[in-house]
Amino acid sequence: MALLFLSKGDDPVRWAAVLRQHIPDLDIRVWPETGDVGDLDAALVWNHPPGELRRYPNLRLILSLGAGVNHVLDDPDLPATVPIARIVDPGLTGGMVEYAVWAVMRYHRNLDVYERFQREGKWKKLPIPDASRRGVGVLGLGEIGGACAQVLSAFGFWVAGWSRTPKNLDGIVSYAGDGGLKPFLARTDILVCVLPLTPDTRGIINAELLAALPKGAFVINIARGGHVVDGDLIAALDSGHIAGATLDVFQPEPLPQEHPFWRHPKVTLTPHIASLTNPDTAVLPIIENLRRLAAGRPLVHLVDRKSGY
Ligand code: NDP
Repeated sequence: MALLFLSKGDDPVRWAAVLRQHIPDLDIRVWPETGDVGDLDAALVWNHPPGELRRYPNLRLILSLGAGVNHVLDDPDLPATVPIARIVDPGLTGGMVEYAVWAVMRYHRNLDVYERFQREGKWKKLPIPDASRRGVGVLGLGEIGGACAQVLSAFGFWVAGWSRTPKNLDGIVSYAGDGGLKPFLARTDILVCVLPLTPDTRGIINAELLAALPKGAFVINIARGGHVVDGDLIAALDSGHIAGATLDVFQPEPLPQEHPFWRHPKVTLTPHIASLTNPDTAVLPIIENLRRLAAGRPLVHLVDRKSGY
């Protein structure tokens, strides 16, 4: 079995070491040193050059190095029929949950306000709000959004989620489809976006969505920068309709120095670190699929190209 490792941002030596812990005889090629491209069975990729994967005639599986696959599907010259699998990893999910809890809790407990008070040298106490009356809305109730919703619910928040299909998660109010979005937004004081970036979800955090949130709501985006229409969010922050935004992802990344998010007083930003793919744990679903591929068994965590996730 020959696997191509194709990522400029990940360490091929580290990845080769963890992959070989599980499959010692795995033939790993590190792009651009592909060797004979006819040998390649699978490619493990992050932001590959468009058209590159089409050069491998016997490729049977494309593995994303992350949970999101928009970086794969963005390639207009992707081989048409090769299955695409993504990473589903409790380690990766755990990082996302930690970040979501931190960001929600920071707004819920007024820590953003206390940060300002400290800068002003002001000693002032605010009432502690009731979590059960705080509507937290999670956009996307999949592997990561579902986990975020359940942990936030365990903290006592009044949690709802929005997805394409209805969900039955303990303690989580489920809204689904286009018709479910407005009622979901109307009861959301703190919005957490964990949607995949697809043609349907690109630009979803726009003026219309923001206007449908209650005045004073907060926005947290840990999904992809392309979900947000930056100018609309800034306008909603400036008007006071949205009280604050915590953003981990941007378009483009790195966020250009001149972008107004860097200096906006109501924006908190981090450099796409809500979670990071840790080879030690993320290797497990990759190995599972390589073993299935070798044995001719059905693959797992496959992406539906039509829906884009
Ligand atoms: P999943 O595929 O497991 O879940 C996606 C969820 O979004 C599902 O509930 C799905 O609905 C819902 N959804 C998709 N399209 C629509 C739509 N058009 N309308 C309503 N709901 C929709 O993905 P994950 O939870 O694993 O990951 C989510 C995203 O998180 C990734 O795509 C990635 O971009 C981002 N991410 C960011 C990281 C970071 O560090 N910032 C790290 C890891 C991931 P349904 O259940 O009905 O199919």
